[in-house]
Amino acid sequence: MNPVTKQQPAGGQTLYSDHRKRIALFGSTGSIGTQALEVIEANPDKFRVAILTGHSNHELLIEQALKFQPAYVVIVDQEKYLKVKDALSGTSIRVMAGEQSLEDAASLDIYDMMLAGIVGFAGLKPTLKALEGGRAIGLANKETLVVAGDIVMRKAVEKRAPVIPVDSEHSAIFQCLVGETRNRIEKIVLTASGGPFLGKKPNYLVNVKREHALQHPNWNMGAKITVDSATLMNKGLEMIEAKWLFNLRPEQIQVVVHPQSIIHSMVQFEDGSIKAQMGLPDMKLPIQYAMAFPMRIPNQFPRFDFSKSAQLAFEPPDIKTFRNMALATEALYKGGNLPCILNAANEIAVYGFLRNRIGFLDMTEVIERTMLNIPFISDPSLEEYFESDAEARNFAASIIQI
Ligand code: NDP
Ligand code: MG
Repeated sequence: MNPVTKQQPAGGQTLYSDHRKRIALFGSTGSIGTQALEVIEANPDKFRVAILTGHSNHELLIEQALKFQPAYVVIVDQEKYLKVKDALSGTSIRVMAGEQSLEDAASLDIYDMMLAGIVGFAGLKPTLKALEGGRAIGLANKETLVVAGDIVMRKAVEKRAPVIPVDSEHSAIFQCLVGETRNRIEKIVLTASGGPFLGKKPNYLVNVKREHALQHPNWNMGAKITVDSATLMNKGLEMIEAKWLFNLRPEQIQVVVHPQSIIHSMVQFEDGSIKAQMGLPDMKLPIQYAMAFPMRIPNQFPRFDFSKSAQLAFEPPDIKTFRNMALATEALYKGGNLPCILNAANEIAVYGFLRNRIGFLDMTEVIERTMLNIPFISDPSLEEYFESDAEARNFAASIIQI
């Protein structure tokens, strides 16, 4: 499809225009990335792809590039460079490789919005580069805000670059806040599905393996966030993400378990009124909302049907059993580099668990010991965040001997 072709359908409306939003899709080979491409494919008159990036999945990256014809692709794994380069040699697509290329691509003046769908700490640097250039961010990569939320949000304000959440809970809160700029938030309520082990106790969790943890009841996501959902670390990271996105005090953030995942989160205002955003669990909706903001655009996604539905239930999270959430809450309250340390240790612990090196409950142990071991810094610079991340990773890796 030629991106600038204009066609006049029967209604006389322009089907394609050159005003389409140019999307730089970072992490295009992942769960968020592939769903974002489905949204783009369904809306060829509104979006086009400027940049695609993948880490190791060169086959999918090549397929995506041939289909969506971006100006640039980045393959982080340098060993795959020649394969990608060869496969795209008959096209005008430029190929870059290596970690630094993510930042180089993010600095290019060829896109309007970065969809930040890389997993983990690796998403931070390219997102900062995009903000430096004043680009809008559709933020799925919550770790960026967990690690250095103060610096990231300050940069966004300085550059007047909007940060629009993609994480479903934060998208829900963002949507509830539309039209409420003059009104104060009393608190927000983040909903949690509870994950595959809702109601289970340590005597069960001690035997849990990778295959069990990767079965999420409501959402189909990448491996790391699926494990984070099973340990409730995901909700802990989301509390910290919410603090920075919505400028909240820790006491204003509450978590409630809602196993059906129909209410995606809620805001309670100063008058006690509560707004909720609801719908079937489908990440394409918050992805589409972030990309099209401030417009809502029609789609064919399945709808929630009140006439058929079962009950919506709520209960408090069991943070005595799922201690990762308690550790994340501690990091949320204490601030400084503690969330960065928590995140780094968690990334290593999840890596170790996914490779069957440690058990489910050992992940908490690794994180806790790392949080106790790495020196606390109350107001870190970006450099200090990077150092804390590296120190925490090394320490956590030494515990599990990887
Ligand atoms: P996936 O594991 O499915 O995808 C991760 C993407 O990042 C892939 O494109 C992968 O490349 C790339 N990647 C992995 N490591 C690196 C690295 N070191 N440097 C650069 N790129 C890398 O993850 P998800 O799509 O599930 O999650 C992405 C982010 O979105 C996470 O932060 C997650 O918390 C957040 N999120 C995800 C949701 C979901 O439904 N999936 C919901 C809400 C938030 P490759 O595959 O080629 O190796
Ligand atoms: Mg979420």
